[in-house]
Amino acid sequence: MTTTTDILAELAQLPGIKVFTDEPMTAHTSFGIGGKADLLAMPDSIETLAAAIRVLTNAEINICYVGNGTNLLVRDGGIRGAVIKLSGALTGIRRQGNTLIALAGESLSALCHRAAQEGLSGLEFAAGIPGSVGGAVLMNAGANGGEMADVTGWAEVVTRQGERQRRGHDQINFGYRRSCFQHDEVAIAQVAVQLTPADPRDIYRCLYETVQQRCTRQPVGQPSAGSIFKHPNKDYAGRLLEEAQTKGMRVGDAIVSPKHANFIINLGQATAGDVLQLITQVQQKVHDKFGIHPTTWYLGFSYETMARGS
Ligand SMILES: Cc1cc2nc3c(=O)[nH]c(=O)nc-3n(C[C@H](O)[C@H](O)[C@H](O)COP(=O)(O)OP(=O)(O)OC[C@H]3O[C@@H](n4cnc5c(N)ncnc54)[C@H](O)[C@@H]3O)c2cc1C
Repeated sequence: MTTTTDILAELAQLPGIKVFTDEPMTAHTSFGIGGKADLLAMPDSIETLAAAIRVLTNAEINICYVGNGTNLLVRDGGIRGAVIKLSGALTGIRRQGNTLIALAGESLSALCHRAAQEGLSGLEFAAGIPGSVGGAVLMNAGANGGEMADVTGWAEVVTRQGERQRRGHDQINFGYRRSCFQHDEVAIAQVAVQLTPADPRDIYRCLYETVQQRCTRQPVGQPSAGSIFKHPNKDYAGRLLEEAQTKGMRVGDAIVSPKHANFIINLGQATAGDVLQLITQVQQKVHDKFGIHPTTWYLGFSYETMARGS
């Protein structure tokens, strides 16, 4: 029988990997919330990522992938099994013609900056979205009328068997903040974004203005997971939340941002339980006023799948 010690030893001998046990997920989520993960591994190459996945799959250990943790609420009971975190580990960008190929743990902001530097346009919409490239593709992250689907040429993934496969744009089934990767149980390892040559000064100007707008409208810099609720059919979640007077509602240290009603902020000691309770109260308030039940993001706000504890 393979013991935890055997698995740790097997993982630890892989090149370029960092392995932690009983790792608090507070340190790996922008919310600053979450119990401990039994094991957290950070591989710095696709080969090591694939090897780590093979070790964990052979040992029948549950795997959760984390990018930069900016769209996650991990429950207070933590995560049983292994987290493979790619931000801060699997990073790097290279250029091939007008395409930039980024490893999945690279920050989306760094990719936007590199595109501007190279005089390649198309990623300006993403300025200020705080995720990793892999997380952005999985979520089809978007803003200002653009989304990752517009620029993604292909993504290379690693399956649970540790096999590397390339998925072309048409195989990814992008939808509104959706992709097939939300169901496929693969690790996104690297992504090719296809861009168009443009004057770097124009690109930088656009990036700057986009980030400025975010700073004006959103509680940037405060611990959150971005927007919590989806836009309901032909309406705006922000409008419903605002008119239902949800701003400032609070449970424990979780509060609906007074600046942007679709953001919940951790004032310091909020638990996942506080956030979940606050979500329910907000949903009730909106329902009482409009007869509409606002839904949370699927997976992007993935407390159902990430949460293995109470
Ligand atoms: C202040 C703030 C503003 C935001 N603004 C926006 C916005 O304008 N538009 C928008 O779309 N989003 C926004 N977000 C949400 C978030 O930044 C995006 O959804 C982002 O794409 C998530 O990337 P991540 O790397 O942090 O993913 P994580 O939070 O780490 O993970 C999100 C999901 O992707 C999975 N995942 C991540 N990386 C991989 C991988 N390599 N392989 C397989 N699965 C993976 C995780 O398992 C999880 O299910 C905002 C968040 C914050 C905190």
